[in-house]
Amino acid sequence: MGSDESVAERPGTWQESLRRAVRSLDELLDLLSLSRDQLPALDPTPGFPLLVPREYVRRMELSNPRDPLLLQVLPLAEENLQVSGFDSDAVGDSHSARLPGVLHKYQSRALLIATGLCAVHCRYCFRRHYPYEESPTSLSQWDSSLGYVQDNPQIDEVILSGGDPLSLGNAKLFGLLGKIASIEHVTRIRIHTRFPVMIPSRIDQDFLERLETGLLSETRKSVWMVLHVNHAREIDRHLIDACHKLRRAGVILLNQSVLLRGINDTLESQRDLCKQLADAGIVPYYLHQLDRVAGAAHFECDESTGESLVAGLRMELSGYAVPRFVRETAGEPSKTLIL
Ligand SMILES: *Cc1c(COP(=O)(O)O)cnc(C)c1O
Ligand code: SF4
Repeated sequence: MGSDESVAERPGTWQESLRRAVRSLDELLDLLSLSRDQLPALDPTPGFPLLVPREYVRRMELSNPRDPLLLQVLPLAEENLQVSGFDSDAVGDSHSARLPGVLHKYQSRALLIATGLCAVHCRYCFRRHYPYEESPTSLSQWDSSLGYVQDNPQIDEVILSGGDPLSLGNAKLFGLLGKIASIEHVTRIRIHTRFPVMIPSRIDQDFLERLETGLLSETRKSVWMVLHVNHAREIDRHLIDACHKLRRAGVILLNQSVLLRGINDTLESQRDLCKQLADAGIVPYYLHQLDRVAGAAHFECDESTGESLVAGLRMELSGYAVPRFVRETAGEPSKTLIL
């Protein structure tokens, strides 16, 4: 990623934002004017380290130990409790791996683990224990893994996931996208990312140009981007601007969120989230019941909570602004619609 590294030190770039992200618990608490005695017991040295960009910290409320953004990234001692039913491979990913980095669980779409890196570490992440070291790291390694997609014409959509695929520099990312687009029976490309939410400057001019004048106009494949916003307060003007640019470039924007206890489990917070997503031109696609990954038990809500929230949203919002409430069950041929 030679060309990407040279940009890395330039101020104002997303690479610099990532490098300057907060990795120390003390610093995070300091920035938010919080002291440890206001918070539940923390884990100062979590196996899945603290990582939160300053752009996200700025959207948190000072001196609020229950801030819904803070709770998504704060490592609690509770994560180390063994809770029965919560495992390291919550959704059966290990049974879906075909070639390194390629998960083929659902008939028509394959999911690529493009990288293990993210712009943030979400404490409830269902891939927090994923063996990322097994996935390809170079474009030539991807060539052999993509042979699987080439050989399976029923796959008409490839999903870039991870980790966060937008952690890759533009040169590498578009190198991979180009390879995917060259497979004739793949007509749609999807990117699952939380990067534009965390560090909106990731959607830079170079990214937009490669997308619009390169990938989209040269190949005519459709590009879908699924963002990951859990709370209305994550949507600020920088994210709205980035979404506007993406839509102008021809990207279709969806959102998936996770139902999280104490964070977005009230009708008011879900209503605000869905309305603001719709205002930003993002279709609320999925609301996920939490995947039961080890360390995340304290985030879980009853499914009945999600059911009544979605029923409530239906009464108030446009049909397209109400997400499908789903759970992922290992071995099922699609996500399972609850309700
Ligand atoms: C969730 C998921 C998909 C995408 O499913 P959709 O219902 O099409 O959004 C594809 N592959 C894997 C392995 C998944 O976990
Ligand atoms: S951004 Fe996605 S993959 Fe990365 S930690 Fe958060 S939920 Fe997990």
